[in-house]
Amino acid sequence: MTYDAGHYDVIVIGGGHAGCEAAYAAAHRGAKTLMLTLNLDMLAFMPCNPSIGGPAKGVVVREIDALGGLMGKVIDKTYIQMRMLNTGKGPAVRALRAQADKPLYIQEMKSILENERNLTLRQAMVERLIVEDGVCKGVITETKAAYYADSVVITTGTFMRGRVIIGDLSYESGPNNQRASVKLSEHLEELGFELVRFKTGTPPRVNSHTIDYSKTEIQPGDDNPRHFSYETTEAILDQIPCWLTYTNEFTHKVIDENLNLSAMYSGMIKGTGPRYCPSIEDKVVRFNDKPRHQIFLEPEGRNTEEIYVQGLSTSMPEYVQREMLRTIPGLENSEIMRAGYAIEYDSVVPTQLWPTLELKAIPGLFTAGQINGTSGYEEAAGQGLMAGINAASRAMGRESFILDRSQAYIGVMIDDLVTKGTNEPYRLLTSRAEYRLLLRHDNADIRLTEIGYNIGMISEERYKLFAEKKLLIEKEQERLADVMLKPTEEVQKVIENSGGTALKEAIRALELLKRPEIKYEMIEQLTPAEQELPWDVKEQVEIQIKYQGYIAKSNQQVERMLKMENKIIPENIDYDDISGIATEAKEKFKKVRPLSVGQASRISGVNPSDVSILLVYIEQGR
Ligand code: FAD
Repeated sequence: MTYDAGHYDVIVIGGGHAGCEAAYAAAHRGAKTLMLTLNLDMLAFMPCNPSIGGPAKGVVVREIDALGGLMGKVIDKTYIQMRMLNTGKGPAVRALRAQADKPLYIQEMKSILENERNLTLRQAMVERLIVEDGVCKGVITETKAAYYADSVVITTGTFMRGRVIIGDLSYESGPNNQRASVKLSEHLEELGFELVRFKTGTPPRVNSHTIDYSKTEIQPGDDNPRHFSYETTEAILDQIPCWLTYTNEFTHKVIDENLNLSAMYSGMIKGTGPRYCPSIEDKVVRFNDKPRHQIFLEPEGRNTEEIYVQGLSTSMPEYVQREMLRTIPGLENSEIMRAGYAIEYDSVVPTQLWPTLELKAIPGLFTAGQINGTSGYEEAAGQGLMAGINAASRAMGRESFILDRSQAYIGVMIDDLVTKGTNEPYRLLTSRAEYRLLLRHDNADIRLTEIGYNIGMISEERYKLFAEKKLLIEKEQERLADVMLKPTEEVQKVIENSGGTALKEAIRALELLKRPEIKYEMIEQLTPAEQELPWDVKEQVEIQIKYQGYIAKSNQQVERMLKMENKIIPENIDYDDISGIATEAKEKFKKVRPLSVGQASRISGVNPSDVSILLVYIEQGR
C-alpha cells in the first residue's frame, strides 16, 4: 500500500550534478519542485577527480552559468586551485580548470538548494514511476510514499544496477559504497526502456603524509585566477598546489605481470568504458611504446589528507595497486586510504529522448546526466539544467527549450546524444563542436545570458550588467574603427617593440589590432578609451576584432546549417510513404524521429541521398 505524500510540478530523482542543476532550474523558474535523493549529505558529490572544467567541459560550466545554473558559482566559492589552460593557444581552446574542495563543494551546493524557494529536498530511494495512460504522473519510494507531478526527471548517474569491481572482488553498489539503485533500473526495463551497460573507474586515494613531494614537480595555480561565474567578484588567494610525477618501467612491469588479475582483462567487466579516460592498465597495454605516463597528485580538499592519484584509474586487486604505487617517485611509501575500483552500471540509450531530454515513449518523463550515457560532472550538470528547464516548461505550460549546435557545447552534446546515440560513455571534446570558434570560454555570456534572462533564470540586476558590458564592447569596436593612427614616432615604436612591420601610412586602430603581434593594451597606449574599460571588455574587443574573418566564416556556415534546421519535419510523417529512401535510413528515421532535416542529416548511417529525398517529400507538403 502506498500513501499520497504530496503533489508537485516537478520531481527530480537524484542529487548528483545533473539533479542539483535540474532541481534548481525548475524551482528557480517557479515550478514547485521536489528532489528525492539517496543521501542528502552527498549532494553534487564527486566520486572521481576533484576537479571541474578543462577543455570543452570548462566552457560548459561557463554556459551553465550564463544560463543561470549553479556549477560555476559553487566551484568559484570552493576551489583550492584555479588554472587557465592553453593560454598560448587560440581563444577557441582556452579553458579554465579548478581543483575542487570536495566536501566544501557539497556544503555550498546544499546550502544554495536548501535556500531556494519552491524547492523541497528529501532523502529517499525511488523504486517505481507512476505511469498512467502512457504518461508519467509521479514516483513511488521504497517507504511507499507516492509523490505526484507533471514532470519527473531521472538523474540517477552510475547507481543503476551499479556493481563495483576490484580485481576478482565484485559487489552490488553505487559509487563510493553507496547503495545501488536496482529496482528503479528493473522497473525502467519493464516499462520498455532500452538500457546498455557501461563502466567507469577511479584511482586510489593516498594519505598526503606518506608522500615524498620532494621527488615530484609542483603545479601551482594561477597568480590572478579567472573564474567560471560571471557573478564572481572575489578570488580565493590561498591556493593549494598539485604535484606531478610519472609512472616508469617498474610500474609497467607490475601491471604487465598482473594483467590477468585486472577486472578489465579477466572478463569480469562486461560494460564499455570511456575511451578518453582509460585505466592505467589500458594505457600500458594500448600505448606500450610509451616509457612513462603522467600522474598528478591532487588534494581532495583543504581539510583532508586524501590525495587523488590522477592517471592511475584501475580495477586491479588492492595489493597490486599498492605495488604499482610503490614504484612511482614520491609514492614509494604511500598508504592507500581508498582503493581504486571500476563500476558497471545501466544507462538509457539516449536516442529514446527528444532534444528536450523528455522520453519519446513516456511524456512527462525526462532523463539527464550519466544515465543518458555521458561521463563527467560538467556533461551531467549541463543536461540537468536543460532537463530542469524543460520539465518546468512542461509543468507550467511554457515553451520547450533547445540549444542548437552553434549556440553552446551543451547543444552539441544533447544533439549528439539524441541523434547519434553513443556506444561508450560520452565525453565532451572540443573536436565534437564544428563551430568551436564561436563556442568559446570567453563569450558564453554573450551567447546565452539573454536566453537565460528570457526563461527566468537570470536576474534583472545581472542582465543589466550584461547589457552594459555588451554596449561597451560594441562602442569600443566602433571607436577603434573610427580612430586613424598616423605613422608617428610613438606608433612606430610600439609596433617595433611588438616585432611587427613599420607603418607606411595611417591605419585604422581596428586594422592595426588585427595584426597577430598587436595586443589591445598596445592600442590602448596609443589611443586610450574615454573611460577605463573592464578587463573582460578589453579581452572581448581584442578577440572579436582579431578573429573577425574566421568568426564571419563560421557565422556563414551556421546560417547554412540553420536553413536545414528550420526545415521542420511534420510530427505525423509516415516514413513508409516515402519511396526511394534506403531501408536502414528509414528505420533510423523511425527510431530517432528527427525534428528537422538538419537533425535527420546527422543520424549515423543516413546518406545524403536519403536526406535529399526526405527534403523533397517535405517541400512537396505531403
Ligand atoms: P551522480 O553524480 O552519480 O548522481 C546520481 C544521484 O542519484 C545521486 O545523488 C544518488 O543518490 C541519486 N540516486 C540514484 N538512484 C536513486 C534512486 N533510486 N532514488 C533516489 N535517488 C537516487 N567522470 C569524469 O569526467 N571523469 C572520470 O574519470 C570519471 N570517473 C568516474 C569514476 C567513478 C568510479 C564514478 C562513479 C564516476 C566517474 N565519473 C567520471 C563520472 C562522474 O562521476 C559522473 O559523470 C557524474 O557524477 C554524473 O553525475 P549525475 O548527476 O548524472 O549522477
